Formats: sequence, structure tokens, C-alpha cells
Amino acid sequence: MKILVINCGSSSIKYQFYSLSENRILAKGIVEKIGMKGSFLKHEKESGQKVLFEGEILDHKIGIEYILGVLSSVKHGCIGSLNEINAVGHRVVHGGEEFSESVFITDEVMHALEKFNELAPLHNPPNLKGIYALKSLVPDVPQVAVFDTAFHHTMPQHAFMYAIPHALYKKYGIRRYGFHGTSHKYVSNRACEILGVDPSTVKVITCHLGNGASACAIRNGKSIDTSMGFTPVEGLIMGTRSGDIDMGAVTYIMDKERIGTKSASTLFNKHSGLLGISGISSDSREIRAAADKGDERCLLAVKMFDYRIKKYIGAYAAAMGGLDVLVFTGGIGENSDITRTGVCEGLEFLGIEIDQNLNEGLRGEERIIGKRDSRVKVMVVPTNEELMIAIDTQNIVTELFK
Ligand code: ADP
Repeated sequence: MKILVINCGSSSIKYQFYSLSENRILAKGIVEKIGMKGSFLKHEKESGQKVLFEGEILDHKIGIEYILGVLSSVKHGCIGSLNEINAVGHRVVHGGEEFSESVFITDEVMHALEKFNELAPLHNPPNLKGIYALKSLVPDVPQVAVFDTAFHHTMPQHAFMYAIPHALYKKYGIRRYGFHGTSHKYVSNRACEILGVDPSTVKVITCHLGNGASACAIRNGKSIDTSMGFTPVEGLIMGTRSGDIDMGAVTYIMDKERIGTKSASTLFNKHSGLLGISGISSDSREIRAAADKGDERCLLAVKMFDYRIKKYIGAYAAAMGGLDVLVFTGGIGENSDITRTGVCEGLEFLGIEIDQNLNEGLRGEERIIGKRDSRVKVMVVPTNEELMIAIDTQNIVTELFK
């Protein structure tokens, strides 16, 4: 089955085209700067050859037309006609309380998704644009939505509720939803596969550390808590997001700086986190380099970043009543041996011990990096959300048309 995986952002569309039965990625690429000057499509063939198409990509529909065009083009494509696309899987950030798993997209589902635009105003509207575009361009191809929130549906109420008047939950759906679910699910399952253990028998903490970052407590294969909340700003320190902060400080800053909700949201989502602390960058590599040269704010940023993750690991071990497997993923988790070391330092009492011979220099590879006889298996598992979306899509479509 050939499956196109689509991830629509506000000004970009990432795609991967899979032939799952053959375990091949036939093509992948990205459309960038949609609706801006200098928009382009960067396409990569299975051979690794890259092609660049510049053009006026005014909206998501034109972006999708570019993608379908290149996939079926004689010169750069990998299919004879668009009929060869058996299904499309979309990353959809918010599935609210309604969607606890991936779903075949019908008009009804699309209508339901519209409701979540308010909950995820930056992410869901572009996700929907991609769905509408494909529906109009290839109406006969089944489409599936795979939600970032779905994996966290198993969180118990005492973990997902905020201690605010209950009426606000009822009225506006104010609760913790959690995000990065596709990644947490993929890496925890993959870790269990590597270890040869049944997910339903172990306690796992996954740390997805990229520009966005979150931790997840997974007991018996189910998410029971995660660090992101109503929005992706809660929890760990991120590239530009503050993570946990006393809301008293938020209202105080708004008062003092005389700013409204929009500016406050920009402040805590775009100007905080590693960028805010360091004052130089949101990129952990640049911060590391400056910290190595003695930059004090970068040293502080690194310490704060690691410390926050460490606290969540302790909290989640407590929440689960123990820990068997700790997994690092995401750009930082997969590539930064120093971060992994910094996070795990001092957690020996929990049974977490890194073997530096296995950890040092490890980038983007699956590996157990914990000491052989330590109680907790510490691992690096590169995430693969696109593959997870393709697999879910295949399963749903196969089930539907069997
Ligand atoms: P996103 O959340 O946007 O998908 P990524 O998962 O790509 O982000 O992670 C981006 C982060 O990963 C950046 O902070 C970057 O510095 C970090 N990163 C990427 N490669 C490396 C590396 N080789 N060593 C250390 N950090 C890295």
C-alpha cells in the first residue's frame, strides 16, 4: 500500500511517501514559505537526489498541488498516476476529548475538527487546510487523521484536570490534553520491541526533547501523564517556550508591561525557554557552544533545561510506582550525549545509570546506553512520527475496505 503522510504547518507542508509493504520511503520533502516571498518545494527522491522548485505557492492547496505534481512527474516522480496513492495520513495536532485514536476522515469528522481550531489556533487550521486541499484534488483517496493528543486519552482524570472551577472545564474544555503523543507512542513501543518486552508489563518514561519538548509516563503501554497541558507551553523548558511557570508571574508581567493576552502568549511561546534564558539562541547546539566558552547565561540555560527534565522523571517514577525504561528522543534527546548525562546525573537512586562508553558520541541511533546491570534500561530511540502515521493510516484503511 502506498501512503502519503502530510504534516501541514502554518507556512510549510512536510511530506513522506511510503510503500509500507516494501518498507520503502519513495520520496519526501517540504514546501516552505507558503504565502510569502520566495516560496519553494524541496523534494528528495528515494535515491537521495534533491530537487528544488521555486514558485508562487500562495496557499496550502497550491502547496499540495506542487507535491502531487512532483510525485507523479515523469522526470522526478515515483508514480505513474495519482491513482497509485492508496491513502493519505495527516498529522493533526488536536483531537480534543472526542478522538482517542486515529480516524478515517469523513465530512462529520472534518466538522468535528473545526471545533478544535480554537483550542490549537496555530496548528489545527493549517492541518485542516491540508485535508480540504487533498479532498478537493484527489476526492477518491481515503484520508486518515492521526492526532498528537490521542495517545494521552488514557490519562486518568486526576492527572488531566486543573484545580480550577469545574464549570470552566465543562464550558471551554480547559484541561490537560498533552501533545507529541505519536512520538511518545512510537518510541515507547519501539523501545519495548528492542528490549523484547511486552509494553503491557513495563513502566516507561519517554523524553521527547526537540524545539518542543515533553515527557510522558507510560504504564502498561498507556500514557498516564505527560508534561504538556492545555497547550504545548506547559512542562519542560523548550527552545522558545517557558514550560511551567507560576501563573501569578504571568499576570504580574502582563500588568507591569501593560500587555494583553496576545503579547503575553507570544512572550511565553516565542521569546522564552532556552532563547529567553540565554539571550542568544533557541538552538541547544549554539547554547552548548557558548556555555563551553563560559557564557554564564548559557550555562544557566543548560542547567535549567536538564534540571526540569530530571524533576519530571522523578515525578513520573513516583506516579507510576517505579520505572523500568527511560527513553530519550527528539533532536536533543537523540543527539546530545551531554544532555542525556546532565539529566541522568543524580538519578542513580532510581536505578538510572548511564554507561559513557555507550552514550558518548551517540547520535540518532537506537541503542541501550544504560549500564548493563542497572535497574532501569536507559535508551536512545530516534522518533519516527511519519512512520507511525503511515502505519495507523494503513491499518485503518485496510480495516475499512476489507
Ligand atoms: P522540532 O521539535 O522542531 O522537531 P528537533 O527535534 O529537530 O525539533 O530538535 C531541534 C533541537 O535539536 C535543536 O535544539 C538542536 O540544537 C538539537 N540538535 C539537533 N542536532 C543536534 C546535535 N547533533 N547535537 C545536539 N543537539 C542537536
